[in-house]
Amino acid sequence: MTLSLDLTANPTRDMLRARAVMPAKGSLIGLSRAELGEALISAGVPERQAKMRVQQLWHWLYVRGVSDFSEMLNISKDLRATLEQHFTIARPEIVEEQISNDGTRKWLFRFPPRGAGRPVEIETVYIPEEGRGTLCISSQVGCTLTCSFCHTGTQKLVRNLTAEEILAQLLTARDRLGDFPERGTPDGAIVPAEGRKVTNVVMMGMGEPLYNFEAVKKALLIASDGDGLSLSKRRITLSTSGVVPEIFRTGDEIGVMLAISLHATNDDLRDLLVPINKKYPLSELIAACRAYPGLSNAKRITFEYVMLKDVNDSIEDAKALIKLLRGIPAKINLIPFNPWPGTNYQCSDWETIEKFADYINNAGYASPIRTPRGRDILAACGQLKSESERMKKVDRLALEAMMIAGHGEA
Ligand code: SAH
Ligand code: SF4
Repeated sequence: MTLSLDLTANPTRDMLRARAVMPAKGSLIGLSRAELGEALISAGVPERQAKMRVQQLWHWLYVRGVSDFSEMLNISKDLRATLEQHFTIARPEIVEEQISNDGTRKWLFRFPPRGAGRPVEIETVYIPEEGRGTLCISSQVGCTLTCSFCHTGTQKLVRNLTAEEILAQLLTARDRLGDFPERGTPDGAIVPAEGRKVTNVVMMGMGEPLYNFEAVKKALLIASDGDGLSLSKRRITLSTSGVVPEIFRTGDEIGVMLAISLHATNDDLRDLLVPINKKYPLSELIAACRAYPGLSNAKRITFEYVMLKDVNDSIEDAKALIKLLRGIPAKINLIPFNPWPGTNYQCSDWETIEKFADYINNAGYASPIRTPRGRDILAACGQLKSESERMKKVDRLALEAMMIAGHGEA
C-alpha cells in the first residue's frame, strides 16, 4: 500500500505553510561564512561581533536545524528582531509527502519565485536501507539534456536551483525524519551521527548538477562542513551525464565522490541514449575519469549503467564495458530501467541482468544491481518530474499496468 499524505488536506499543512515564507527577504541558508558575515554587517551587526555571530548562526542553522530566529536562544531578542526584519531562514513549502510501501519517501517541495519568476516545484527522495539512508537531491527544475530513457529529460529546464534551495532539500528532509534535535532541548540532545536517518547524499534527482556547478559546489561544501551538517565527502556522490569540462573541478573544488551515467560503451549508442555524448564523446569522458583528483582503489568512480532490454544488455556489451573501464578504479552500478508512461524502452529481463552482473563480477568489479525503490510513488531513478507536469490519472494507470506487466515486484 502506498501512503500518500496530501498536505492540501492535512492538519500539519498550516504549520508547514506558516514556516514557508516568501523570500522577499534574502535567505541566510546557503551563504558561505564570509557572505553570512557581510549580510549581518549590512543589517547593522557591528563588525567586531560579526565573526562570533556567524559562528552562532552556523550552529543554529546547520547543527540545530532551526527554521525560525526565535529559536536562537543565545542571541538577544533585539538582534533576533533585526535578523527577522532583514532575512529569512524558512523552509520551502511541502506540497506533498508520499511514503512508499518499501519505506522510500518522496517530497514535492515548492520554492517561492526568484525575481520575476514563478514558484517552482521539485522532488527529493529518501531511500532507507539497512544501516544507511540516502537522500537523492535535485539540482535543477527539469533538465536541458534529453537522455532518451529518462522521464526528467522530457521536462524542459525551468531554472537552476540556488545553493539555498539545494541545501533546503537536505534540511527539510532532516526535519521530517527527526534528524535534528527536538526544539528547545539543550545541546546534549543533538542526534548523534550514527543515529541519523540521512547518512548519504546523492546528487541524482532532477537535473544535471554540473550545469549548475557554482550552486551545487556551494551547497555541498556547506553540507560537508565539519562544524555544521558534517556529512563526510565520502558519503556524498555527484552523478553526471558527462559534462567533461567540469569533472576535474568537481574533484578538485568539491572533493565528493563521482558517478558517471555511462549506459553505453560505444559512441553510436551513447549518442542516442545520452545525447551530451555528441559534445563530449566517450574518449574524452573516460580521459576525464582517469584524471579525477584523488582517484584510488579506496575512492572509486561509480559507473551507472541502465539495463535496457535488447539495447545495451548483451554479454558483448558487458565485455565492452570491462574493456572501456580497464585501469580505472571503478564500481559498476546496474540500474534496472524504471518505466514511465510514453517510453519506448523496456527493462531487461531479470535473468539477463543477472548474467550481465555475473560477467562483470567475474571480471573483478563490484556490480550491485540497484534494487528499484519507491516505484509505486514514481520515486525511482529517472521517474522524477515536478508537480507542473504531474501525471494525469490515466497516465498513472498506464504506468501501473506497465509495471505489473514488466516486473512482478511492482
Ligand atoms: N543528471 C544526472 C543526475 C540525475 S539522473 C545524470 O544523468 O547523471 C540519476 C541516474 O538515473 C542517472 O544515472 C540516470 O541516467 C538514471 N536514470 C534516468 N532515467 C532512468 C530510468 N528511467 N530508469 C533507470 N535509471 C534512470
Ligand atoms: Fe538530465 Fe540526467 Fe535525465 Fe539525462 S539522465 S535527462 S542528464 S536528469
